[in-house]
Amino acid sequence: MKVLKGKSGITVLFRPMKTGLVDMHYYVKVGAIDESSAEWGYCHALEHMVFAGTEKRTWLQINRDWEKIGAYYNAHTHHDRTTYDVTCLKKHWQESYEVLADMFYNCQFPKDRWEDVEKPAVISEIEADLDDQGTVLAETLYRTGIGDSYHSIVGGLDTIRSATIDDLTSFYQEYYQGDNVYLVVTGDLTEKQLMRVVNRYDRLQTRKQVKRKQFNFKFNYGPVTVESKGAQQAYLQTLMPVDIPRTYRTRVGLCLGVACLSQYLFEELREKRGLVYGASASLYWELPDQVFLNCKTATEMGRLDKTQRAFRAALNRFPEEGLSAERINNIKRSEAFATIGEQENIDTSAGALWEAYEEEQTDMDPYKKHLRTLDRLSVESIRTTTRLHLLGKDKLGKLVGS
Ligand SMILES: [Zn+2]
Repeated sequence: MKVLKGKSGITVLFRPMKTGLVDMHYYVKVGAIDESSAEWGYCHALEHMVFAGTEKRTWLQINRDWEKIGAYYNAHTHHDRTTYDVTCLKKHWQESYEVLADMFYNCQFPKDRWEDVEKPAVISEIEADLDDQGTVLAETLYRTGIGDSYHSIVGGLDTIRSATIDDLTSFYQEYYQGDNVYLVVTGDLTEKQLMRVVNRYDRLQTRKQVKRKQFNFKFNYGPVTVESKGAQQAYLQTLMPVDIPRTYRTRVGLCLGVACLSQYLFEELREKRGLVYGASASLYWELPDQVFLNCKTATEMGRLDKTQRAFRAALNRFPEEGLSAERINNIKRSEAFATIGEQENIDTSAGALWEAYEEEQTDMDPYKKHLRTLDRLSVESIRTTTRLHLLGKDKLGKLVGS
Protein backbone atom coordinates (compact mmCIF):
# COMPACT_ATOMS: atom_id res chain seq x y z
CA MET A 1 0.00 0.00 0.00
CA LYS A 2 1.06 3.59 -0.58
CA VAL A 3 0.61 6.60 1.65
CA LEU A 4 0.39 9.78 -0.46
CA LYS A 5 -0.20 13.43 0.23
CA GLY A 6 -2.41 15.71 -1.87
CA LYS A 7 -2.03 19.45 -2.45
CA SER A 8 -4.93 20.21 -0.11
CA GLY A 9 -3.04 18.36 2.62
CA ILE A 10 -5.20 15.24 2.34
CA THR A 11 -3.59 11.90 3.19
CA VAL A 12 -4.38 9.33 0.51
CA LEU A 13 -4.06 5.61 1.19
CA PHE A 14 -3.72 3.85 -2.13
CA ARG A 15 -3.70 0.19 -3.02
CA PRO A 16 -2.95 -0.53 -6.69
CA MET A 17 -4.96 -3.57 -7.77
CA LYS A 18 -5.58 -5.21 -11.14
CA THR A 19 -9.33 -4.88 -11.50
CA GLY A 20 -11.88 -3.26 -13.78
CA LEU A 21 -13.35 -1.25 -10.89
CA VAL A 22 -12.15 1.67 -8.80
CA ASP A 23 -13.15 2.10 -5.17
CA MET A 24 -12.92 5.44 -3.34
CA HIS A 25 -13.68 6.07 0.31
CA TYR A 26 -13.57 9.24 2.39
CA TYR A 27 -12.82 8.33 5.99
CA VAL A 28 -13.59 10.79 8.78
CA LYS A 29 -12.20 10.08 12.20
CA VAL A 30 -15.41 10.77 14.04
CA GLY A 31 -17.95 8.30 15.38
CA ALA A 32 -20.35 7.62 18.22
CA ILE A 33 -17.58 7.71 20.84
CA ASP A 34 -16.89 11.35 19.99
CA GLU A 35 -20.46 12.43 20.72
CA SER A 36 -21.43 13.91 24.07
CA SER A 37 -24.70 12.59 25.51
CA ALA A 38 -26.44 15.69 24.10
CA GLU A 39 -25.02 14.89 20.64
CA TRP A 40 -26.02 11.22 20.63
CA GLY A 41 -26.59 10.21 17.00
CA TYR A 42 -25.09 13.31 15.34
CA CYS A 43 -22.48 11.32 13.38
CA HIS A 44 -25.16 9.08 11.96
CA ALA A 45 -27.48 12.03 11.23
CA LEU A 46 -24.64 13.72 9.34
CA GLU A 47 -24.03 10.56 7.38
CA HIS A 48 -27.58 11.05 6.05
CA MET A 49 -27.30 14.81 5.57
CA VAL A 50 -24.06 14.79 3.58
CA PHE A 51 -26.15 13.33 0.72
CA ALA A 52 -28.63 16.23 0.92
CA GLY A 53 -27.16 18.30 -1.91
CA THR A 54 -24.55 20.91 -2.81
CA GLU A 55 -24.62 24.25 -4.60
CA LYS A 56 -24.08 22.36 -7.83
CA ARG A 57 -26.28 19.30 -7.26
CA THR A 58 -29.52 18.52 -5.46
CA TRP A 59 -29.77 15.24 -3.52
CA LEU A 60 -31.49 13.78 -6.58
CA GLN A 61 -28.71 14.84 -8.94
CA ILE A 62 -26.09 13.25 -6.69
CA ASN A 63 -27.97 9.96 -6.94
CA ARG A 64 -28.59 10.29 -10.68
CA ASP A 65 -25.00 11.25 -11.51
CA TRP A 66 -23.80 8.02 -9.94
CA GLU A 67 -26.67 5.89 -11.19
CA LYS A 68 -26.14 6.89 -14.81
CA ILE A 69 -22.62 5.42 -14.71
CA GLY A 70 -23.71 2.33 -12.76
CA ALA A 71 -21.75 3.26 -9.64
CA TYR A 72 -22.39 1.76 -6.22
CA TYR A 73 -22.39 4.36 -3.42
CA ASN A 74 -23.01 4.24 0.31
CA ALA A 75 -21.98 5.59 3.71
CA HIS A 76 -21.47 4.05 7.15
CA THR A 77 -21.15 5.32 10.70
CA HIS A 78 -19.06 3.39 13.24
CA HIS A 79 -18.02 4.03 16.81
CA ASP A 80 -14.72 5.53 15.71
CA ARG A 81 -15.23 6.66 12.09
CA THR A 82 -17.69 7.65 9.38
CA THR A 83 -17.14 6.63 5.77
CA TYR A 84 -18.49 7.68 2.37
CA ASP A 85 -17.75 5.46 -0.56
CA VAL A 86 -18.29 4.94 -4.24
CA THR A 87 -17.22 2.04 -6.45
CA CYS A 88 -17.48 2.34 -10.22
CA LEU A 89 -16.24 1.07 -13.55
CA LYS A 90 -12.67 2.16 -14.15
CA LYS A 91 -13.60 4.29 -17.16
CA HIS A 92 -15.88 6.44 -14.97
CA TRP A 93 -13.64 6.88 -11.97
CA GLN A 94 -12.78 10.56 -12.47
CA GLU A 95 -16.37 11.79 -12.79
CA SER A 96 -17.36 9.52 -9.96
CA TYR A 97 -14.70 11.00 -7.70
CA GLU A 98 -15.75 14.53 -8.66
CA VAL A 99 -19.30 13.79 -7.40
CA LEU A 100 -17.95 12.24 -4.20
CA ALA A 101 -15.70 15.22 -3.42
CA ASP A 102 -18.46 17.71 -4.28
CA MET A 103 -20.94 15.92 -2.03
CA PHE A 104 -18.46 15.48 0.80
CA TYR A 105 -17.07 19.04 0.96
CA ASN A 106 -19.80 21.25 -0.45
CA CYS A 107 -22.90 19.96 1.31
CA GLN A 108 -25.44 22.69 1.92
CA PHE A 109 -27.45 21.10 4.75
CA PRO A 110 -30.91 22.37 3.71
CA LYS A 111 -33.03 22.77 6.83
CA ASP A 112 -36.24 21.37 5.31
CA ARG A 113 -34.39 18.30 4.06
CA TRP A 114 -33.38 17.52 7.66
CA GLU A 115 -36.71 18.30 9.30
CA ASP A 116 -39.02 16.79 6.67
CA VAL A 117 -37.06 13.85 5.30
CA GLU A 118 -33.91 12.73 7.06
CA LYS A 119 -34.95 13.31 10.67
CA PRO A 120 -38.08 11.13 10.29
CA ALA A 121 -35.98 8.53 8.41
CA VAL A 122 -33.41 8.40 11.23
CA ILE A 123 -36.20 8.14 13.82
CA SER A 124 -37.61 5.14 11.93
CA GLU A 125 -34.16 3.60 11.86
CA ILE A 126 -33.83 4.00 15.65
CA GLU A 127 -37.28 2.52 16.18
CA ALA A 128 -36.47 -0.45 13.95
CA ASP A 129 -33.47 -1.19 16.20
CA LEU A 130 -35.72 -0.97 19.27
CA ASP A 131 -37.99 -3.58 17.67
CA ASP A 132 -35.08 -5.96 17.07
CA GLN A 133 -34.54 -8.26 20.06
CA GLY A 134 -30.94 -9.18 19.23
CA THR A 135 -29.97 -5.52 18.85
CA VAL A 136 -31.72 -4.49 22.08
CA LEU A 137 -29.93 -7.21 24.05
CA ALA A 138 -26.53 -6.40 22.52
CA GLU A 139 -26.87 -2.66 23.14
CA THR A 140 -28.07 -3.22 26.73
CA LEU A 141 -25.15 -5.56 27.34
CA TYR A 142 -22.61 -3.06 25.96
CA ARG A 143 -24.06 -0.24 28.03
CA THR A 144 -24.10 -2.36 31.19
CA GLY A 145 -20.58 -3.67 30.66
CA ILE A 146 -18.96 -0.47 29.45
CA GLY A 147 -21.10 2.11 31.24
CA ASP A 148 -22.34 5.55 30.29
CA SER A 149 -19.38 6.33 28.09
CA TYR A 150 -20.98 3.90 25.61
CA HIS A 151 -23.97 4.67 23.41
CA SER A 152 -25.32 3.18 20.20
CA ILE A 153 -24.35 4.51 16.78
CA VAL A 154 -27.83 4.98 15.39
CA GLY A 155 -28.73 7.67 17.95
CA GLY A 156 -31.22 8.45 20.69
CA LEU A 157 -34.84 9.38 19.97
CA ASP A 158 -34.66 12.50 22.16
CA THR A 159 -31.38 13.89 20.84
CA ILE A 160 -32.38 13.29 17.22
CA ARG A 161 -35.84 14.82 17.70
CA SER A 162 -34.32 17.97 19.18
CA ALA A 163 -31.30 18.21 16.85
CA THR A 164 -31.44 21.28 14.60
CA ILE A 165 -29.69 21.65 11.27
CA ASP A 166 -27.37 24.20 12.95
CA ASP A 167 -26.34 21.59 15.53
CA LEU A 168 -25.41 19.20 12.73
CA THR A 169 -23.66 21.86 10.68
CA SER A 170 -21.41 22.89 13.53
CA PHE A 171 -20.63 19.25 14.29
CA TYR A 172 -19.63 18.83 10.62
CA GLN A 173 -17.48 21.99 10.73
CA GLU A 174 -15.66 20.72 13.76
CA TYR A 175 -14.83 17.19 12.60
CA TYR A 176 -14.90 17.09 8.79
CA GLN A 177 -11.59 18.86 8.34
CA GLY A 178 -7.82 18.72 8.68
CA ASP A 179 -6.09 15.53 9.78
CA ASN A 180 -9.45 14.03 10.62
CA VAL A 181 -10.16 13.25 6.95
CA TYR A 182 -8.51 10.59 4.73
CA LEU A 183 -9.08 9.35 1.23
CA VAL A 184 -8.67 5.62 0.56
CA VAL A 185 -8.46 4.42 -3.06
CA THR A 186 -8.12 0.96 -4.60
CA GLY A 187 -7.88 0.36 -8.33
CA ASP A 188 -5.84 -0.17 -11.45
CA LEU A 189 -4.37 3.34 -11.48
CA THR A 190 -0.90 4.83 -11.29
CA GLU A 191 0.03 7.18 -8.46
CA LYS A 192 0.32 9.98 -10.98
CA GLN A 193 -3.15 9.41 -12.46
CA LEU A 194 -4.68 9.27 -9.02
CA MET A 195 -3.01 12.35 -7.58
CA ARG A 196 -3.72 14.48 -10.63
CA VAL A 197 -7.44 13.95 -10.13
CA VAL A 198 -7.30 14.20 -6.33
CA ASN A 199 -5.49 17.51 -6.62
CA ARG A 200 -8.11 18.77 -9.02
CA TYR A 201 -11.16 17.99 -6.86
CA ASP A 202 -10.22 17.50 -3.22
CA ARG A 203 -11.22 20.52 -1.12
CA LEU A 204 -9.95 19.60 2.33
CA GLN A 205 -9.66 22.56 4.70
CA THR A 206 -7.85 22.69 7.98
CA ARG A 207 -9.63 24.77 10.57
CA LYS A 208 -8.13 23.46 13.78
CA GLN A 209 -6.64 20.38 15.37
CA VAL A 210 -9.17 17.81 16.52
CA LYS A 211 -8.37 16.01 19.74
CA ARG A 212 -10.05 12.69 20.33
CA LYS A 213 -11.28 11.94 23.85
CA GLN A 214 -9.71 8.97 25.60
CA PHE A 215 -12.24 6.21 26.00
CA ASN A 216 -11.95 4.94 29.58
CA PHE A 217 -14.18 2.76 31.70
CA LYS A 218 -14.22 0.05 34.35
CA PHE A 219 -15.88 -3.10 33.08
CA ASN A 220 -19.01 -4.18 34.92
CA TYR A 221 -19.53 -7.96 34.94
CA GLY A 222 -23.14 -7.88 36.16
CA PRO A 223 -25.72 -10.13 34.48
CA VAL A 224 -28.40 -8.46 32.36
CA THR A 225 -31.91 -9.54 31.48
CA VAL A 226 -34.15 -7.75 29.00
CA GLU A 227 -37.76 -8.87 28.86
CA SER A 228 -39.78 -8.51 25.71
CA LYS A 229 -43.38 -9.50 25.24
CA GLY A 230 -44.30 -11.60 22.25
CA ALA A 231 -40.75 -12.65 21.31
CA GLN A 232 -40.49 -16.13 19.84
CA GLN A 233 -36.84 -16.66 20.73
CA ALA A 234 -34.71 -16.09 23.81
CA TYR A 235 -31.38 -14.50 22.91
CA LEU A 236 -28.23 -15.24 24.88
CA GLN A 237 -25.13 -13.11 24.64
CA THR A 238 -21.94 -12.75 26.68
CA LEU A 239 -19.44 -9.92 26.60
CA MET A 240 -15.96 -9.96 28.08
CA PRO A 241 -13.03 -7.55 27.81
CA VAL A 242 -9.91 -9.10 26.33
CA ASP A 243 -6.32 -7.92 26.80
CA ILE A 244 -5.30 -6.20 23.59
CA PRO A 245 -2.74 -8.24 21.65
CA ARG A 246 0.39 -6.12 21.36
CA THR A 247 1.88 -7.55 18.19
CA TYR A 248 0.43 -8.37 14.80
CA ARG A 249 1.28 -12.06 15.31
CA THR A 250 -0.59 -12.35 18.59
CA ARG A 251 -3.48 -10.43 17.08
CA VAL A 252 -3.78 -12.96 14.28
CA GLY A 253 -3.32 -15.81 16.77
CA LEU A 254 -6.16 -14.49 18.90
CA CYS A 255 -8.47 -14.12 15.89
CA LEU A 256 -7.80 -17.76 14.99
CA GLY A 257 -8.46 -18.86 18.56
CA VAL A 258 -11.79 -17.03 18.56
CA ALA A 259 -12.68 -18.65 15.23
CA CYS A 260 -12.00 -22.02 16.92
CA LEU A 261 -14.31 -21.02 19.78
CA SER A 262 -17.02 -20.01 17.32
CA GLN A 263 -16.85 -23.34 15.52
CA TYR A 264 -16.74 -25.22 18.83
CA LEU A 265 -19.87 -23.45 20.18
CA PHE A 266 -21.74 -24.18 16.97
CA GLU A 267 -20.79 -27.87 17.12
CA GLU A 268 -21.66 -28.23 20.81
CA LEU A 269 -24.99 -26.39 20.81
CA ARG A 270 -26.30 -26.95 17.32
CA GLU A 271 -24.65 -29.92 15.67
CA LYS A 272 -24.45 -32.25 18.68
CA ARG A 273 -27.54 -31.21 20.66
CA GLY A 274 -29.88 -29.38 18.29
CA LEU A 275 -30.59 -26.76 20.95
CA VAL A 276 -30.19 -23.75 18.69
CA TYR A 277 -30.04 -22.75 15.05
CA GLY A 278 -26.82 -20.73 15.30
CA ALA A 279 -24.11 -19.97 17.85
CA SER A 280 -20.99 -17.90 17.37
CA ALA A 281 -18.07 -16.12 18.99
CA SER A 282 -16.40 -13.00 17.61
CA LEU A 283 -14.12 -10.18 18.63
CA TYR A 284 -15.78 -6.80 19.06
CA TRP A 285 -13.07 -4.42 17.94
CA GLU A 286 -15.14 -1.31 17.23
CA LEU A 287 -13.98 0.89 20.11
CA PRO A 288 -10.46 2.27 19.84
CA ASP A 289 -7.93 0.57 22.11
CA GLN A 290 -10.48 -1.95 23.38
CA VAL A 291 -11.26 -5.53 22.45
CA PHE A 292 -14.15 -7.63 23.70
CA LEU A 293 -15.18 -11.19 23.16
CA ASN A 294 -18.80 -11.58 22.09
CA CYS A 295 -20.53 -14.98 22.20
CA LYS A 296 -24.13 -15.39 21.15
CA THR A 297 -26.93 -17.77 20.40
CA ALA A 298 -30.73 -17.93 20.50
CA THR A 299 -33.27 -20.61 21.30
CA GLU A 300 -36.95 -21.29 22.06
CA MET A 301 -38.19 -20.04 25.43
CA GLY A 302 -38.94 -23.62 26.50
CA ARG A 303 -35.31 -24.67 26.00
CA LEU A 304 -33.74 -21.59 27.56
CA ASP A 305 -32.54 -23.22 30.79
CA LYS A 306 -31.10 -26.21 29.03
CA THR A 307 -29.38 -24.03 26.43
CA GLN A 308 -28.00 -21.69 29.05
CA ARG A 309 -26.42 -24.64 30.89
CA ALA A 310 -25.01 -26.09 27.70
CA PHE A 311 -23.69 -22.67 26.60
CA ARG A 312 -21.90 -22.16 29.91
CA ALA A 313 -20.54 -25.71 29.92
CA ALA A 314 -19.23 -25.34 26.37
CA LEU A 315 -17.44 -22.08 27.25
CA ASN A 316 -15.84 -23.80 30.23
CA ARG A 317 -14.77 -26.88 28.29
CA PHE A 318 -13.40 -24.94 25.33
CA PRO A 319 -9.82 -24.50 26.62
CA GLU A 320 -9.40 -28.26 27.01
CA GLU A 321 -11.53 -29.59 24.18
CA GLY A 322 -11.81 -26.84 21.62
CA LEU A 323 -8.20 -26.12 20.73
CA SER A 324 -7.17 -29.38 19.09
CA ALA A 325 -4.36 -29.28 16.53
CA GLU A 326 -6.80 -30.51 13.91
CA ARG A 327 -9.28 -27.68 14.54
CA ILE A 328 -6.56 -25.03 14.64
CA ASN A 329 -5.06 -26.22 11.35
CA ASN A 330 -8.46 -26.30 9.68
CA ILE A 331 -9.25 -22.81 10.92
CA LYS A 332 -5.88 -21.59 9.60
CA ARG A 333 -6.74 -22.93 6.15
CA SER A 334 -10.18 -21.38 6.16
CA GLU A 335 -8.66 -18.05 7.25
CA ALA A 336 -6.24 -18.24 4.31
CA PHE A 337 -9.19 -18.94 2.02
CA ALA A 338 -11.11 -15.92 3.40
CA THR A 339 -8.06 -13.66 3.16
CA ILE A 340 -7.43 -14.54 -0.48
CA GLY A 341 -11.12 -13.95 -1.16
CA GLU A 342 -10.83 -10.48 0.37
CA GLN A 343 -7.54 -9.75 -1.36
CA GLU A 344 -9.26 -10.29 -4.70
CA ASN A 345 -12.37 -8.32 -3.79
CA ILE A 346 -12.21 -4.55 -4.17
CA ASP A 347 -15.04 -3.97 -1.65
CA THR A 348 -13.03 -5.03 1.37
CA SER A 349 -9.72 -3.31 0.86
CA ALA A 350 -10.51 0.22 2.15
CA GLY A 351 -11.13 -1.16 5.64
CA ALA A 352 -7.91 -3.17 5.56
CA LEU A 353 -5.87 -0.16 4.40
CA TRP A 354 -7.39 2.05 7.08
CA GLU A 355 -6.61 -0.46 9.83
CA ALA A 356 -3.08 -0.94 8.58
CA TYR A 357 -2.58 2.83 8.55
CA GLU A 358 -4.01 3.20 12.07
CA GLU A 359 -1.62 0.53 13.31
CA GLU A 360 1.33 2.00 11.41
CA GLN A 361 1.69 -1.20 9.38
CA THR A 362 1.98 0.40 5.95
CA ASP A 363 5.17 -1.34 4.82
CA MET A 364 3.37 -3.93 2.67
CA ASP A 365 -0.01 -5.00 1.31
CA PRO A 366 -2.16 -5.85 4.35
CA TYR A 367 -3.38 -9.12 2.80
CA LYS A 368 0.11 -10.31 1.94
CA LYS A 369 1.21 -9.53 5.45
CA HIS A 370 -1.75 -11.43 6.89
CA LEU A 371 -1.11 -14.51 4.75
CA ARG A 372 2.58 -14.51 5.63
CA THR A 373 1.79 -14.26 9.35
CA LEU A 374 -0.76 -17.09 9.06
CA ASP A 375 1.86 -19.26 7.43
CA ARG A 376 4.33 -18.66 10.22
CA LEU A 377 2.04 -19.21 13.20
CA SER A 378 2.37 -22.61 14.86
CA VAL A 379 -0.48 -24.54 16.48
CA GLU A 380 1.21 -24.18 19.84
CA SER A 381 1.56 -20.40 19.60
CA ILE A 382 -2.09 -20.00 18.60
CA ARG A 383 -3.13 -22.14 21.55
CA THR A 384 -0.95 -20.15 23.94
CA THR A 385 -2.16 -16.77 22.67
CA THR A 386 -5.80 -17.86 22.87
CA ARG A 387 -5.49 -19.23 26.39
CA LEU A 388 -3.55 -16.21 27.56
CA HIS A 389 -5.96 -13.62 26.17
CA LEU A 390 -9.30 -15.34 26.60
CA LEU A 391 -8.76 -17.54 29.58
CA GLY A 392 -5.88 -16.04 31.50
CA LYS A 393 -8.15 -14.59 34.11
CA ASP A 394 -10.53 -17.52 34.17
CA LYS A 395 -13.27 -15.23 32.91
CA LEU A 396 -14.78 -17.25 30.11
CA GLY A 397 -18.25 -18.53 30.98
CA LYS A 398 -18.70 -16.14 33.89
CA LEU A 399 -21.03 -13.72 32.21
CA VAL A 400 -24.28 -14.69 30.55
CA GLY A 401 -26.89 -12.11 29.62
CA SER A 402 -30.26 -13.26 28.32
ZN1 LIG B 1 -28.99 5.57 8.77
